[in-house]
Amino acid sequence: MVYCKCRNCGANLEIDENDYMPGCRETEDVNCPKCDKIATSVFTSGFPVAREIDKMPII
Ligand SMILES: [Zn+2]
Repeated sequence: MVYCKCRNCGANLEIDENDYMPGCRETEDVNCPKCDKIATSVFTSGFPVAREIDKMPII
């Protein structure tokens, strides 16, 4: 799980990379659920899913 801000609208996003196959990773674009544009890119073997959150968690 990674946390970032959408580079278009600035929404706080929680991204589940669905990364289950080490060694098969590639860069996938993540669509923002709020503005429907590309929010960021992650390095994963699966299909990342983003959801908007109210606040960034304190890590
Ligand atoms: Zn956005």
